Amino acid sequence: MKGNLGSIETKAIHAGEPRPRIAGAVVMPVFQSATYQYAGEKNYDDVRYIRLNNTPNHLALAEKLSALENAEDALVTASGMAAISTSLLTFLGKGDHFLAQDCLYGGTHDFVTRDIEKFGISYDFIDGNDPESWKRKLKPSTRAIYVETISNPLMQVPDLESMVSFAKSHGLVSMIDNTFASPVNFRPSELGFDLSLHSATKYLNGHSDIVAGAVIGKSALIQKVTHKLNHLGGSLDPHAAFLLHRGIKTLALRMKHHNESALQIARFLEKHPAVAKVNYPGLESHPNHERARRLFDGFGGMMSFELHDGVEAAELFMQTARLPAVAPSLGGVETLVTRPSTTSHSGLSAEDRRRLGISDGLIRLSVGIEATQDLIEDFRQALETRSSRTSSHRSQGRVQVRE
Ligand code: PLP
Repeated sequence: MKGNLGSIETKAIHAGEPRPRIAGAVVMPVFQSATYQYAGEKNYDDVRYIRLNNTPNHLALAEKLSALENAEDALVTASGMAAISTSLLTFLGKGDHFLAQDCLYGGTHDFVTRDIEKFGISYDFIDGNDPESWKRKLKPSTRAIYVETISNPLMQVPDLESMVSFAKSHGLVSMIDNTFASPVNFRPSELGFDLSLHSATKYLNGHSDIVAGAVIGKSALIQKVTHKLNHLGGSLDPHAAFLLHRGIKTLALRMKHHNESALQIARFLEKHPAVAKVNYPGLESHPNHERARRLFDGFGGMMSFELHDGVEAAELFMQTARLPAVAPSLGGVETLVTRPSTTSHSGLSAEDRRRLGISDGLIRLSVGIEATQDLIEDFRQALETRSSRTSSHRSQGRVQVRE
């Protein structure tokens, strides 16, 4: 279904749905066919074949995703990393240089620091909050700039407005990993970004049962990424496409709950005496809170926090909390906790993690859609198991623990 469908809740249900319905099916059927009868296509990219990303399931998803972000076009990929690596390799080649935010999802960071130079591509890291410094890193060969809407795992919100104008004035392709925000909270095309990338494994699918990715943005650029993807081969399997399509239908509903629940939990954690620091852009104490309020429709379900007693206390919290699963990944209906230094960011050297502010005791929390109060009660008992142990130890010494 095309045309003006109104709000994002409605688009999540109706955008991209085939009209007329296929055999009357209310749900987009899964086309589990690798190849399709030749119909006189003139170009290789138009031949229908799963790897070429043009089966009915791919096309319906592309239309739905571009509608969600008010963008021109989209494509789905086999994983978030396929979306990221394929996009970077589409616009960068031998002799090119690009700028990347210094604190990134670990897999992206590893790709940049370990693999990309082998393609003859060079890079510089930039501080997303210091636009003055970006120009100093610019070279005649700089072609692109890469950033995350809300950085993993410290939840920084870079200066996205300055980044768009910087990219435009220097002719750079601007790419943003919008996984943490989701199209419900932020739509990069509306601000002027060229390409928005997603690990659709996370909020877009929302049920922690597939791995998928997406690239959303300007048609001419999406066409180039599709062409590269057709060669690199990171296309999405139809069954995963079917599940992603199903997951997206509840995206707006889920994000509303994630946003509301995470804000309440962040406020609870921030006040708890066992907690040293909470990183959540919805908190007034967050250094980028004003920017997040101006640009986002919600602050999302992701946060990270540190306890006063470091790694030992973090481990105890994770073992004592009953509701969250201790697992990497995020954006699903179930609450997950992990220590990034042992999972998503274990590929970084200890020195790099320290420099970026990712302590070994940092806990990353993906708030699911369980009842907020149940999670708060569970976290309270987990923190207090810790507090009572340390309070007897502490009362002999320095700090008086409240609660
Ligand atoms: N981008 C972000 C922000 C992520 O957190 C992840 C995975 O955790 C990825 C990209 C990579 O996605 P995938 O695991 O689907 O390849």
